[in-house]
Amino acid sequence: MANLMEKIVSLAKRRGFIFPSSEIYGGFGSCYDFGPLGVEMKNNIKRTWWDEMIKEHNDIVGLDAGILMSPKVWKASGHLTAGFADELVECKKCHRRFRLDEIEENLPSHHSAKGGTGSDGCPECEGELTKPRKFNLMMKTFVGPVEDEAAKTYLRAETCQGIYLNFKNILQTMRLKIPFGVAQIGKAFRNEITPKDFIYRTREFEQMEMQWFCQPKTAPKFFDYWKKERINWYLNLGIKKANLRVKEVSKKELPHYAKRAVDIEYKFPFGSPRFRVEAGWKEIEGIHNRGDWDLSNHAKHSGEDLRYEGPASAPQSGASAGKYFPHIIETSAGADRSLFAFLSDAYQEVKGGRTKTTKAAKEIEVLLKLHKSLAPIKVAILPLVKNKPKLVKKAKEVYQALKPHFMTQYDEIGSIGRRYRRQDEIGTLFCLTVDFDSLEKDDLTVRDRDTMKQERIKIKELISFLKEKLNE
Ligand code: ATP
Repeated sequence: MANLMEKIVSLAKRRGFIFPSSEIYGGFGSCYDFGPLGVEMKNNIKRTWWDEMIKEHNDIVGLDAGILMSPKVWKASGHLTAGFADELVECKKCHRRFRLDEIEENLPSHHSAKGGTGSDGCPECEGELTKPRKFNLMMKTFVGPVEDEAAKTYLRAETCQGIYLNFKNILQTMRLKIPFGVAQIGKAFRNEITPKDFIYRTREFEQMEMQWFCQPKTAPKFFDYWKKERINWYLNLGIKKANLRVKEVSKKELPHYAKRAVDIEYKFPFGSPRFRVEAGWKEIEGIHNRGDWDLSNHAKHSGEDLRYEGPASAPQSGASAGKYFPHIIETSAGADRSLFAFLSDAYQEVKGGRTKTTKAAKEIEVLLKLHKSLAPIKVAILPLVKNKPKLVKKAKEVYQALKPHFMTQYDEIGSIGRRYRRQDEIGTLFCLTVDFDSLEKDDLTVRDRDTMKQERIKIKELISFLKEKLNE
């Protein structure tokens, strides 16, 4: 769809999903705030992910570790060295900065951005580029009142480190046996060189990560298992198959900790006009086989024994015996990036309109066909007209009765057709209209977002009717 990116950004702002940060001060580069509908939707994404991990599996437990940790963690993990640095090039003419890999990815193969190659350099003005230099992505901060080297630490760049640090605590307190997983959702920070593309790449974002601890020789099998599980999660939540793909990460591009990695990619509605990329296949989640990199490194640096104690001798099943470092399969998803993907995927325009009965039928109607688990508002209560006190009273009674059960909105402003369209645009699943018959028959009309079919339902049966529809 033409200009889908602009349409999503505009809808997100107009309807209270996502606002640019610090707007009254002129904004604050590439930072965003999630508005009333955005926070509902993001919470729904996180809850769905959490339920999938914790409730659907017997052998995964949760954790909420802190954002601040000892700086020693980041030394051991390799984040303070070249492994967690992007190569930065700057245009000598317009002074814009770029990640070298982004430029190279998009240039025809016979061109190279390295070291400044004249007119093929800067993607914006074709100016000459500087030689690439390494730029570490860790966000520094100070703990305590004195801003010296001893007080320096970092905001976490990934949530998973907190899981490795608590490996022993979790193992002992929960009396777990391998294989098992630990799931965590939380903020992460990276001093990205080029945050851009709306909420796709920001310096503050939320991750949903699960670390699966297993015997070394079972790691490849579990890698395949989790890859499939995670793809299905997106598909089951309505992402179109054509917009999702898996990319094997080449040996050259593997992160410093990984033995094998695949990226789950979504076809985002942005690209670079200069590179003539209409839509961008970009990562939304990484699946990594991290081997024993994390536990063995933390053991080495901390002096703690972080090995797992297997049976004394290998049983017939061939399980690893004695003490060993479990291998880790990681599923690392972004809550913000997936929200962006879900929004883009759900966005539809209907030319000529769906609601044929109103004047507005000539215009383009927007429909946000979000999965029922993700839609921020499940039910809207609409009195047919607002100047009939009895209707309004009845509608407000229904609103109060439903509110504790479902995310519900009450709306009495504008024609009924306009109100349906406003709700369609934010993906509300059911619109309930209270009309004159409702006063006599104690029922109302339930309109389904997707089929637009309307049914009369008795008010006393509403909650169970809606719960059934929503699978609650
Ligand atoms: P990229 O190549 O896009 O920088 P990455 O490979 O560094 O991403 P990972 O370290 O694998 O990303 O992080 C796992 C997930 O965390 C990503 O798939 C993405 O969903 C999310 N994520 C990482 N960096 C950002 C960011 N700057 N803004 C928003 N989400 C992010």
